[in-house]
Amino acid sequence: GQCTAVCPEKALYVRRHWELVKEAVKDPDKVVIISAAPSVRVGLGECFGGEKGRFVEGKMVSALRALGADYVLDAAFAADLTVMEEGTEFLKRFLTGKGPLPQFTSCCPSWVKYAETFHPEYVNHLSSAKSPISMQGALIKTYFAKEKGIDPQTIVSVAIAPCAAKKAEIAREEMCSSSMYWKIPGLRDNDYVLTTAELAEWMDQQGLDLDSLEPSEFDGLMGQSSGAGLIFGNTGGVMEAAVRMAYSAVNRQDPPPFILEYESVRGMEQVKCASLLLGEKKLNLAVIYGTKAAHEMLESGEIKKFDFVEVMTCPGGCISGAGQPGCKVVPVPDSVRNARIRSLYGADQMRKIRNALDNGEVKTLYDTFLGNPMSPLSEQLLHTHYYSRA
Ligand code: SF4
Repeated sequence: GQCTAVCPEKALYVRRHWELVKEAVKDPDKVVIISAAPSVRVGLGECFGGEKGRFVEGKMVSALRALGADYVLDAAFAADLTVMEEGTEFLKRFLTGKGPLPQFTSCCPSWVKYAETFHPEYVNHLSSAKSPISMQGALIKTYFAKEKGIDPQTIVSVAIAPCAAKKAEIAREEMCSSSMYWKIPGLRDNDYVLTTAELAEWMDQQGLDLDSLEPSEFDGLMGQSSGAGLIFGNTGGVMEAAVRMAYSAVNRQDPPPFILEYESVRGMEQVKCASLLLGEKKLNLAVIYGTKAAHEMLESGEIKKFDFVEVMTCPGGCISGAGQPGCKVVPVPDSVRNARIRSLYGADQMRKIRNALDNGEVKTLYDTFLGNPMSPLSEQLLHTHYYSRA
C-alpha cells in the first residue's frame, strides 16, 4: 500500500484503482466491461520481458478475461469512430468555410487542458469530438447496453490507457452523456481508467503471466478496429487516420499507397507538416507533439497557415504516455518509442481493414443507432465542449 509504512493500521490506505475494479469483478450484480486503448498492446508486453514494443493484443485480451472482465472491447473501435466524427466535422469546416480553421485534434486531454488554460482564444478551434475512450464509455452504457439487454446502472466501464491524464478526462463534468440519455442522475460514462503499468501490477498480484496465455479476440459489437484506429497510439497517427478517411470521402476512391503509408506525418520530429489535394482544395496539415512546440506555433502565428493540426503532449504520442511501462522511473529512450511505433504500423499493415470508413461494426452502429456522423444523437453522445480556464 502507498502509506502502510507510516500507517500500520492501514487506516489511510489508498486503494489503487485496479483494486476497486477487482472488487467490481467479484460483485455478481456488476457487469464489468473493459476496453483497451491502442498503445496498451505495444507496452504491456514490456512488463513481462521480451522484445520492446512487441504486439500482444491477443494475449492482453485473454489477460483481461482472466482477470474477470465480462466483456473485453477495443477502444480502437472508438478511435475509428473518432475519425468519422472528427473527420466529418473537419470536412464541414474545410469545404464550406463554416467554422474556425485550423481545426485541432482533441483526443489528448493534456493538450485540451493546456489550450483551455493558456490559449483560450483557440478553444473553439478544438474538434468537438470526444476522445476514443470517452466515446467508448458513452456508447457502452447506451448502445452496447441496449443491444445486450444490460441495465446500464449495473455496468462498470473500465478503460485501460497509456495515459494518466485520462483519469482526469473521464472525471470531467461533461462526460456523462449516458446519464442524459437514460435520464439517470449520477451515471458516469466511464468508471475507471487503469494505466498499462497498473494493469501489469494487477496481473502480477493475481500471478497471471502474460506469456502463458493463449491469444484471444475482442468481443463483438464494439471490438473491431481498422489499422487507422490502431495508429492513433503514435504521433501522426490521428492525422494519418483522418487523411485516409477524408481522402476517400472527398476524392471518392480508395486511398492510394502514399496515403496508406503517409510518411510525411510519421517519425519522431516534434513538428511535421504536409499538404495534399482534397478534391480541388489544398489541405495544409501539421502534426505536433509537446506543448512547448505547440505554444511556439501558436505564439508566432505560424499555426494559421494550417487547416488541420494534430497535437499530442507526450513525446512520440501515447505510446510513451505516463502510464506506459518505464515512464515513471526514467524517460523512455527513443529506441523504445520507435520500437512501439514500428509495432503499431506493422499491425496496421496486417489489418485487412485500414480505413475507418470500412469498419463494419462502425457502419452497423451508424445504421442501427446513431444515424450519421454528427447526427443529433451522435452530437449528444460523441461530442463535447470546452471552456476557458485562463
Ligand atoms: Fe495521454 Fe500523452 Fe496520449 Fe496525451 S499524448 S492522450 S497525455 S498518453
